[in-house]
Amino acid sequence: MMTQNVKKQVKAVGLMSGGLDSALAAKIVKDLGVEVHGIHFVMPWELPDHSCAMKVSAHLGIEYMALQFDRQYLDIVKNPQYGYGSAMNPCVDCHIHMLVRAGQYMKQIGADFVFTGEILGQRPMSQRGETLRQIEKRSGLEGRLLRPLSAKLLEPTIPELQGWIDRERLLDISGRSRRLQYDLAETLNVTGFHPPGGGCLLTDKNFSRRMKDALDHGYRDRQEIIILQWGRHFRLNEHFKAIVGRDDTENESLIRHAHPDDHIMLLAEKMGPLLLLQGLRPTDDILATCGGLIQQFSRYKNGPAERMQYWQASDQEHIQYTMAKKLDKAHIAQIQL
Ligand code: SF4
Repeated sequence: MMTQNVKKQVKAVGLMSGGLDSALAAKIVKDLGVEVHGIHFVMPWELPDHSCAMKVSAHLGIEYMALQFDRQYLDIVKNPQYGYGSAMNPCVDCHIHMLVRAGQYMKQIGADFVFTGEILGQRPMSQRGETLRQIEKRSGLEGRLLRPLSAKLLEPTIPELQGWIDRERLLDISGRSRRLQYDLAETLNVTGFHPPGGGCLLTDKNFSRRMKDALDHGYRDRQEIIILQWGRHFRLNEHFKAIVGRDDTENESLIRHAHPDDHIMLLAEKMGPLLLLQGLRPTDDILATCGGLIQQFSRYKNGPAERMQYWQASDQEHIQYTMAKKLDKAHIAQIQL
């Protein structure tokens, strides 16, 4: 009886950030005949429907899965083993965590390897040769982590050694310039990715200050982390924090993400910013300070003290009033995060 040689269908999990490099990596691996399953990590402060990775995956015709990061990830942000980059970005720990999760997904769906769009020498913290090797080891993916854009500059991986993919068709890109990748995107008709930079809020110094404050003081739920990206933030004391919206969109977002225990404050009879107060049972002084913040960021900042209305988010019917307290600029600068 004749036995038929059935060619193994190779399967891989690709990290999809929504950016250019991961889109190119996915395209290259897919064109090698691999069944690609994209995985996108949604940061704790992100809203999942904002993902460019989903659009890119659809355009490439690959499977797509989004995984929401939560407290476990924020614990890493608070205490990274490998330290921070220019702000509160723990890039090495973050990469390891992503790859560990991708490795779990790889096993779950019976895939053969994981790949990323990382490029040797592109980022000073996480993409130096030694760091790439360390990340691979710590993620438990030794030999099964392919970086198609720089593969020819790195040790061959199991998929290459086993002949599952052709190493000759992988690339040897290194360094910070993106010219080659843009040319390649045009040649391979890869579109829909988001522009480089400005992606991760942990690289933003203002956001990082707020994140540090939230992690130091504790947070009740993910809504409180999502809110960090909107408005002006003020640490009033150990127990109270105020956030002042900068426009109507932010005001609405703050209300939508308020915790039932939070208080919402506005000018009583006039138009102005909205303030969200976090903390239980605010004192008269805290409420007056919140009023002072609202007044300071309104067109009435140089006028007499204004009357404010406020209510608890869980009890919109019960409106109360307070008078704003005059705050000097130095004090405001001192408490602003
Ligand atoms: S920039 Fe942000 S998402 Fe990217 S590795 Fe660093 S911490 Fe993680």
